Amino acid sequence: MIYLKTEEEIELLRKSSLLVGKTLAEVAKRIRPGVTTLELDKVGEEFIRDHGAVPGFKGYGGFPGSLCISVNETVVHGIPNNRPLTEGDIVSIDCGVILNEFYGDSAYTFAIGDVSEEKRLLMERTKESLYKGIEFAVDGKWTGDIGDAVHSYVRQYGYSVVRDLVGHGLGKSLHEKPEVPNYGRKGNGTKLKEGMVICIEPMINLGKRNVIQEKDGWTIRTSDRSPSAHYEHAVAVRKNRADILSTFDYIEEVLKKK
Ligand code: MG
Ligand code: MG
Repeated sequence: MIYLKTEEEIELLRKSSLLVGKTLAEVAKRIRPGVTTLELDKVGEEFIRDHGAVPGFKGYGGFPGSLCISVNETVVHGIPNNRPLTEGDIVSIDCGVILNEFYGDSAYTFAIGDVSEEKRLLMERTKESLYKGIEFAVDGKWTGDIGDAVHSYVRQYGYSVVRDLVGHGLGKSLHEKPEVPNYGRKGNGTKLKEGMVICIEPMINLGKRNVIQEKDGWTIRTSDRSPSAHYEHAVAVRKNRADILSTFDYIEEVLKKK
């Protein structure tokens, strides 16, 4: 069953999603070579709690961290640890919060110092693919339209789309219906209706699409160990336009000053 949200509920989801954007910006201030992902996790958790919210991922299915921090070939669900980040890494940070009973969920991939041209382009184009998908988060369109838009955009660069993990509905649960794959065929999947709130989150690999789960039961990495990028927005489906509830503005303000 798909929950359609009222205007009031969409505004609460926006509040939660904006807090995620602010949290990621706070984390962005601290990202540099030498910092560990566990230190970043602490920064995120403190910021979330200081703003009257609860980290949405901590304890979710037993996940130990507040942030999922996924370095280079790690696609998603990386567990914060004591390994320092090094120049040239790319790091996806996925953040969830619960505020006023509603989840916020958004992710951004960061460059640590100077990264290779190959990685820089992967990040840039993965982010662009997210916005290509968002254009179809409109009443009457289909989840397959979103997936097709993401896939068509990245395919031209020889990248591949991770299929084992998908976007999802968002509300009082972190993962609601419908599933929102980053591949698909136009006019297929779930028909979108005004009031649906969905997370669109392309996970794009420089190499092959296959992924494996590490023995820790969480970490998902590319099988060929090629780098992967991940960006995510929470979006409300509207009549003639997509309404993006989360934002990268706070993050990018911080990055511009660095
Ligand atoms: Mg997420
Ligand atoms: Mg998500």
